[in-house]
Amino acid sequence: MKIIKFGGSSIANYENIQKVFSIVEQKSGKEAFALVFSAFGGVTEQLLQCANIAQQSEESYHTILQELEKRHLEIAKKLVPVQQQSTALTFVKVRFNELGDLFHGIYLIKECSNRTMDYVLSFGERLSNFILAAGLQAKGISTTYVDARDLVKTDGRFGHAKVNFKSTNKLIQSYFEKHEGIKVITGFIGSTDKGETTTVGRSGSDYTASIFAAALGAEQVEIWTDVSGVMTADPRLVYTAFTIPQLSYNEAMELSHFGAKVVFPATMQPAMKEDIPIYIKNTFKPEEEGTRISKESGEGKIIKGISSMDNISILNVQGPGLVEVVGVSQRFFGTLANNGINIILISQASSEHSICVAIASKDASRAKSVIEEEFRYEIQSGEMAEIEVVPDMAVIAVVGENMQHNPGASGRMFQALGRNNVNVAAIAQGSSELNISAVITQADLQKALNALHEAFFLSDYKVLHVFLVGVGLIGKALTKMINNQLGKLQEENMLDIQIHGMANSRYMKFHEDGFDLATVGPPDENDEPMDMGKFIGTMTEMNFSNSVFVDCTASQDVADIYEQILDSKVGIVTPNKKANSGPLDTYKKLKKLAGQRGVRFFYETNVAAGLPVINTLQDLMLSGDHVHRIEAVLSGSMNYIFSELEKGMPFSEVVAQAKEKGYTEPDPRDDLSGMDVARKILILGREAGQDLHFEDVDIQSMVPEDCEDAASVPEFFEKLQKHDGHFQQLLDEAKAKGEKLRFMATLENGKAKVGLNSLDSEHPFYTLKGSDNMILFTTERYNDFPMIVRGPGAGADVTAAGVFADIIRLGNYSR
Ligand code: ADP
Ligand code: ASP
Ligand code: MG
Repeated sequence: MKIIKFGGSSIANYENIQKVFSIVEQKSGKEAFALVFSAFGGVTEQLLQCANIAQQSEESYHTILQELEKRHLEIAKKLVPVQQQSTALTFVKVRFNELGDLFHGIYLIKECSNRTMDYVLSFGERLSNFILAAGLQAKGISTTYVDARDLVKTDGRFGHAKVNFKSTNKLIQSYFEKHEGIKVITGFIGSTDKGETTTVGRSGSDYTASIFAAALGAEQVEIWTDVSGVMTADPRLVYTAFTIPQLSYNEAMELSHFGAKVVFPATMQPAMKEDIPIYIKNTFKPEEEGTRISKESGEGKIIKGISSMDNISILNVQGPGLVEVVGVSQRFFGTLANNGINIILISQASSEHSICVAIASKDASRAKSVIEEEFRYEIQSGEMAEIEVVPDMAVIAVVGENMQHNPGASGRMFQALGRNNVNVAAIAQGSSELNISAVITQADLQKALNALHEAFFLSDYKVLHVFLVGVGLIGKALTKMINNQLGKLQEENMLDIQIHGMANSRYMKFHEDGFDLATVGPPDENDEPMDMGKFIGTMTEMNFSNSVFVDCTASQDVADIYEQILDSKVGIVTPNKKANSGPLDTYKKLKKLAGQRGVRFFYETNVAAGLPVINTLQDLMLSGDHVHRIEAVLSGSMNYIFSELEKGMPFSEVVAQAKEKGYTEPDPRDDLSGMDVARKILILGREAGQDLHFEDVDIQSMVPEDCEDAASVPEFFEKLQKHDGHFQQLLDEAKAKGEKLRFMATLENGKAKVGLNSLDSEHPFYTLKGSDNMILFTTERYNDFPMIVRGPGAGADVTAAGVFADIIRLGNYSR
């Protein structure tokens, strides 16, 4: 004998019921089973709503009730052929007449006790089971409708009645002995000895199935729902959750106690007592294995699953009056218990100075007032501080028997939470080591679940959540590159990158699930106007684990908020050199903050685009090397200009040509001034461990003095012509010595210099052509021959590639 239960979601409408019937038909004739059904999906909730509306003396419950009746009649008509419909339709109509009277009574007396509510709710299961029994009968399967109130005997705690197993088991056994056919049993409901209707708790039909299984010594219980078993986390909150193939009764109980709604916690008890396995199966994917719940915990990771409860409040009592005073806790917990307030989690520090409990938020204000009343003298005398209630909290729990033998679960749990900036307000671990729970703010719940899921189940798989500011040439190239490479990254590097926010200087847009990178374009007038504060606000609100802020602008305003971003534990990747070449204090503060907050701040592309310059330097420093000298050609445009000059064109014409080819900034003075190169050598100097200020950099500008204040670019070019002779002379002098002119930066003896140098053929820069960059590091280790990095040091593609590499590096670091 098997007990097979289908939940409300499996029978929510006619189409779903067809799926259920085909599962039942396949089993019919081949094996012995009984069926338990919930109410049709959503019906219990609507009955509850009707009762609450009627209680407030509002008539609008009529509308809901009419809809409910219509829905039941329609399903009955579809399932049962016309000739056999009358019994089912009469049953439905009579029940709805009774319900109408019942609600009218509630409406008149403005009251609905727990007792009445249980009676109201019982209609859901009675209606669905009667109709489904008739429907199966019509298909030629001989069924018997069983009103569980005749068999399941309980005490009078309406709403969550306790089952009297002795009498219940007897009644079930004798009923099954005497009655033929496949029993179709109402879940969820029972009755007291006096015959009053009770319910065993919301979602309790699972429990009914287990009660019948235990009474009948069934070989298994099957619980059919809309997911393929108990999953590693609530799939609505963690999209990477997957089915757990095997769970022990205790693990299943613990997970469901802490919010895994898929199976009702008490279900495990009767089955466990008789050692009957429970299978959780998917009505819509019956071929999938689902979850088996039995004595064995089975193989698996250190934990089995993660669950959570929201709408929690913390109640804190503290004060000297608690220390070593026997009986305080007893009074505290006794008061809560006497007032029917359920405690979800307790945490007390060994100093005994405070006790903290987590309770459902609906109980919070009542709990506060009963505790205040109980301890009014202690509070008055100051032995105890005011009772504190912290609302909007959630409890998150990791569950698994394997934790008993494996140290490190809590370490991994709190590391993952900490790394994602989830603050933990209280912690509890049961002595069975089956569960570690933490109380966190509700706003962090989804992030925390995902962070834990990743840490425990997907330690090899990482999802980075990117917020991109600056969708110009670099930003566009970057999104394209990510899109092209994503499949490979997911498969080979177990790394997924999702872009959730995008902004340019005028507009911004967001996507909760991540933009489709194949089609996404920059934000435009159909999106929100850009507001940096709002952008950061939304990023913080989305509250993803592993968030990365990517700044592809050259904006000082964006650089100014790095501190705030790092402080909220979001990593930064950027080619924007404003932050690192600004005040020395800012540079130091950002690095320190990133370290303190355990996040990454990567800016390889600050200098020489994608060339490995900063990384190389950082690695040298980390491994204990000392930098003696850095010589670098760090401006592709300047190198182009001075190597072209050798071909005989006047200086002003070379500059004009470079501008035309897009090698210079729109105003070439921005390159010729040497300021950009100065910022770069400043950053390299700082990375090499020197406390450099921008003012310390000795800059030899290539903009002749009288050209500096030219009002426009054409005017600048006109004035520049007058200096062609000067540059020609410099070139001739160099040529006479067999040397070449190179615009370069040098760092030596703590001094940074930027300017034009004449170099002989021995120097590595002598052969440097075009717009390439080249950097020489002379260090303690690379002394006789410097380390050389050379290659294209500008351009959207190489910069984007460098940014992309930094993002991947950041993903690998956070594993
Ligand atoms: P039924 O109508 O069959 O009783 P429920 O809605 O009560 O179904 O329970 C199934 C739902 O439980 C799933 O659709 C899923 O959204 C939710 N759920 C929460 N936590 C988990 C979990 N850990 N594993 C599977 N489902 C879960
Ligand atoms: N119908 C009841 C409820 O919604 C019981 C159940 O579905 O298991 O709570
Ligand atoms: Mg359920």
